[in-house]
Amino acid sequence: MRNSGRPLLGIFGGTFDPIHYGHLRVAEEIGEMADLREVRVIPAGMPRLRADPVASLHHRVAMVHLATENNPRFKLDDREIRRHGISRTVDSLREIRQELDGVALCVITGADAFIKLAEWHSWRELFQLCHFIVAARPGHALTISRDDLPRELKDECAGRWVSSAEGLKQISSGLIFIAPTTLLDISATNIRARVAAGKSLRYLVPDAVLNYIATNHLYSGEL
Ligand code: ATP
Ligand code: MG
Repeated sequence: MRNSGRPLLGIFGGTFDPIHYGHLRVAEEIGEMADLREVRVIPAGMPRLRADPVASLHHRVAMVHLATENNPRFKLDDREIRRHGISRTVDSLREIRQELDGVALCVITGADAFIKLAEWHSWRELFQLCHFIVAARPGHALTISRDDLPRELKDECAGRWVSSAEGLKQISSGLIFIAPTTLLDISATNIRARVAAGKSLRYLVPDAVLNYIATNHLYSGEL
């Protein structure tokens, strides 16, 4: 389908356990690069493909709120935690497309998440619903070459790659852009481990998130 200049809207899902500067910088740079009208940050309730989050839903959403509230382009979207049950990107995309007519959705993922796309529910259908913007992540294959994708994903992706964010405006879904974002080797796993070891989180997460973690004694016991 021709896009005919419809605005692009970013969809950035994750467990955000906790949200950190790796997430925020990727969302900021991609928002700017692709001229996204908005970046929806969507915390996952119960992620289907990974272990349960450590912090409660309530705390994870509160931290996303603190980290995003001062950025006019970022918008916390809590639909997956209100849904009570397993979080599926395909359901959120269907809903958002119904609510917002005339925008093209761009799912933002890090390279580690995109490489596992074939494990997502109804993954082939996603290409009918959205574009993908993939941020390189230190230590993950897409920083090196798209040939490193698993076979069936590589086949599905063939012919979908565009070399600039501008290219995403050609049609309303089904394209993939690898975004040249600043490589930040920050992960929530490492942040949780640092808290458990009594180490500093300063400059890895916004101060408001740092204070929230301290006040609520998050991550001090478990990884
Ligand atoms: P965990 O270590 O608990 O898996 P995480 O840091 O990977 O946490 P997630 O909530 O799992 O954070 O990630 C949400 C999305 O953000 C995923 O698409 C992931 O690839 C991406 N992402 C997270 N950190 C970075 C980073 N430093 N650079 C690029 N992308 C990132
Ligand atoms: Mg992760």
